[in-house]
Amino acid sequence: MPYPRSIDSLWSGATLVTMKEGQYQLIEDGVIAVDQGKIIWIGKREALPDISAQAHHHFDGGIITPGFIDCHTHLVFGGDRSAEFEMRLNGMSYAQIAAQGGGIISTVRHTREADEEELLRSARQRLQHLLHEGVTTVEIKSGYGLDIDNEIKMLRVIRKIGELLPVEVYATCLAAHAVPPEFNGDSDRWVEVVCEQLLPRVAQEKLADAVDAFCEHLAFSPVQTEKVFSAARTLGMPVKLHAEQLSALAGSSLAAQYQALSADHLEYATDADAQAMAAANTVAVLLPGAFYLLREKQQPPVAAFRKHGVPMAVASDANPGTSPALSLRLMLNMACTLFGLTPEEALAGVTLHAAQALGIRESHGSLECGKVANFVHWPVARPAELVYWLGGQLPCTVIYQGEKRDSIF
Ligand SMILES: [Zn+2]
Repeated sequence: MPYPRSIDSLWSGATLVTMKEGQYQLIEDGVIAVDQGKIIWIGKREALPDISAQAHHHFDGGIITPGFIDCHTHLVFGGDRSAEFEMRLNGMSYAQIAAQGGGIISTVRHTREADEEELLRSARQRLQHLLHEGVTTVEIKSGYGLDIDNEIKMLRVIRKIGELLPVEVYATCLAAHAVPPEFNGDSDRWVEVVCEQLLPRVAQEKLADAVDAFCEHLAFSPVQTEKVFSAARTLGMPVKLHAEQLSALAGSSLAAQYQALSADHLEYATDADAQAMAAANTVAVLLPGAFYLLREKQQPPVAAFRKHGVPMAVASDANPGTSPALSLRLMLNMACTLFGLTPEEALAGVTLHAAQALGIRESHGSLECGKVANFVHWPVARPAELVYWLGGQLPCTVIYQGEKRDSIF
């Protein structure tokens, strides 16, 4: 008799989409047993051992997936860029918009002007959309402060979101996102400040779980990126990278050299990059929202990722400039229609592989014994339906750390 006492809850009546090893691995008429926020047994109802539980929740059909994980967002920022979006579609060029103070610098200005309270309020509003569609874990990056105090302010807000809302939040320091306006293009000097002043403080105050950079000719070079990586690694922080979004700089191979958790975007990644990533277990995070909004033509090398066995994740990249995305399910559809992922690969991209991109694959991302009890019941017949609909809301029941989330919202 392996369960001598009454456990917290049993969940039954649905098909379990376990996502074990990144595949559906369905269990029809399955049961999940939960105790102290963890899955302690999972299997077919007929095989359920003699367990008594405080509560038994029975669904009338449908499916249960792991809680969704959005592993790449920039949800904390001041202002928005809808006016700029309209200007661009009215025929104004990027250069004209930049001359009027638009672009990322306008977000930096608004983020610096906003206090923690205001940043928290607006991020919370945007995050609600993701939570309503089954997100139980989210990563949020800094990178719009671009000076020491404002980067720290952003990271504090990100930490606070995790304390206040029923969602697990992973914070990433993306100070190497753009060159601060007052540095007049002196990117080397900013990289120095980031490596020598900001990152040590972030590490000391435990404000971030990872360090990210934007490796692109209009941001930071591979040499500068390497400086940020080596500072992060010296401080014991894992790295990830915005790489190969607009051009091929072998940033993703560099990321692999530093055992990066993930390299993200990757439209211009090569077969050699994919090989290096596979060897380092670096996840390819695909961001179809930015690809769509920028009307890019170059698709990420999905065939190479498959061939070399690089795990692919899918994320919203929610940000005010290039991906004002408030729906992870829409991103699933876009990853399939724009990049050719299968619905099964797309779902692995917001569950097990997204967990790996955050370094939490051992405890999150699939329905398996011993993992955190974050899962979602959907009243649909098959998992592909989560990927199929364009927009709209699918009602769902979210179980967060073993409890129904609606009741603790
Ligand atoms: Zn991003």
